[in-house]
Amino acid sequence: MLLLREVAKRYDGVQAVAPTTLECERGSTTVLIGPSGCGKSTLLKLSNGLVAPDCGEVRLDGELLTRENALALRRRMGYVIQEGGLFPHLTARANVELVARHLGWEATRRSARMGSLCELVQLPEALLKRYPAELSGGQRQRVGLMRALMLDPDVLLLDEPLGALDPMVRSELQSDLRAVFRATGKTVLLVTHDMGEAVFLADTVVLMRAGSVVQRGAPRELVEEPSEAFVADFVRAQRSPLEGLGGLGGQDPPQGTA
Ligand code: ADP
Ligand code: MG
Repeated sequence: MLLLREVAKRYDGVQAVAPTTLECERGSTTVLIGPSGCGKSTLLKLSNGLVAPDCGEVRLDGELLTRENALALRRRMGYVIQEGGLFPHLTARANVELVARHLGWEATRRSARMGSLCELVQLPEALLKRYPAELSGGQRQRVGLMRALMLDPDVLLLDEPLGALDPMVRSELQSDLRAVFRATGKTVLLVTHDMGEAVFLADTVVLMRAGSVVQRGAPRELVEEPSEAFVADFVRAQRSPLEGLGGLGGQDPPQGTA
């Protein structure tokens, strides 16, 4: 569905992404993970043409992404920006329907879509009249997800969608996100730096370091068969809170693998 072939991006001499190939199959969830600054967000922006690659190509369902068609293809790829990215001066509703309005959707069509999206992401419709500052962090993320889904895109790109949330809200939203991915059958490419979240959500995990992919595979493969010390170190660094208590189940597989 989404193919990046040998794409690379350099900023002022810094290799943000080394030539990288990434294939996201239709309906699958791919999770990009790695330390801060390793190129995850850049790879996501290369996927939807917000950043132009120095070399390589991006294809959406076979169609080559070019400067000319970037805007049209981007509308087929919903994008949830790191830090949410809602316009503070627009209500939740106005944020969600901004592009649909621009494209000339009738009010009835917009409100029908809005209703089904509220149900899908479990946001009470009454909250749509609020401004982002009047919503909780979790509610804002639900609105961001609605905005990304509004045009019913084939692909969903999410950049650390749950990064700023406290653990309880985060855990609840992880479950809800997974339910949305399954219910809609979208092709999902999601960035996180949390291995537990990656394991919970991913069909395929892609671990990056310094602009390059270190290992990719099913979550279990990375945990059980790390390709190099960095992978094992990265997994181990994200230790379960129970480990600190010693012998109380620190070896349990992360949530979602059982
Ligand atoms: P991540 O999302 O994994 O934290 P990024 O993709 O944001 O990493 O950044 C990768 C590297 O590229 C970092 O070294 C970052 O400083 C650099 N970088 C990202 N965007 C820009 C930009 N617009 N201009 C210059 N350097 C950038
Ligand atoms: Mg980032």
